[in-house]
Amino acid sequence: MIVRILGHDFEVVEVPEGHPQLENSWGSFNHDEQLIYIQEGLAPTVAKETLFHEILHGVDNMVVSDGLAERDIFRLSVVLYATLLDNPMIRNYLFGG
Ligand SMILES: [Zn+2]
Repeated sequence: MIVRILGHDFEVVEVPEGHPQLENSWGSFNHDEQLIYIQEGLAPTVAKETLFHEILHGVDNMVVSDGLAERDIFRLSVVLYATLLDNPMIRNYLFGG
C-alpha cells in the first residue's frame, strides 16, 4: 500500500513484532526511506489506527522541523481516528462518497 503525504509517496510495510524499525511500538515513520512500518498481525482496528498515527507523524515531520511531542501525536491520532470512524456522515460530508 502506498500513502501519499503532502505530495510524497510512502510505502506501508508490515514487519514482525520486535523488528528494530518499530522501536518498541506498533508502527514507525521513516522519512528518509519513505517507509511506514506497521507491526504485522495487529487487530484490524489497531492496525488502521496505527497507520493513521504514523501518517500524522509524517505530516508533522514534513511541515515543521521541531515537531509535536509523541503524546500530542497520540492524542490527535486517537481522537481524529475515532471521530472519523464513529461518524460516517461527517466523513461523507468532508470527503464525499
Ligand atoms: Zn508515534
